[in-house]
Amino acid sequence: MGRNKGHTPVRTCISCGVKRGKKELVRLILDPPGLVVRDDSGKGRGRGAYVCLNKPCIGKLETGDRLKRAFRKERPLFLHPEFLEEMSDEGGYIKMKS
Ligand SMILES: [Zn+2]
Repeated sequence: MGRNKGHTPVRTCISCGVKRGKKELVRLILDPPGLVVRDDSGKGRGRGAYVCLNKPCIGKLETGDRLKRAFRKERPLFLHPEFLEEMSDEGGYIKMKS
């Protein structure tokens, strides 16, 4: 109990730049048509980006520029519409699919 089992993977939010444990961030990947979707399994292929599970950080991704840079694309990238629908108004957190 309470023993630290090695290091926790840390990722950086592409919106605010804060480093957090992997589980506190949501992983983003590109789906085949090129929209940004959540990779809840963490096993999606290709380049991933991480963002905090809160509305301000996800809201900043709506302009497309941060996503473009995170995925190193030439064109702006946008969040899948379902991504935004999942956002909760209460507490600013997204409902996690389980
Ligand atoms: Zn953030």
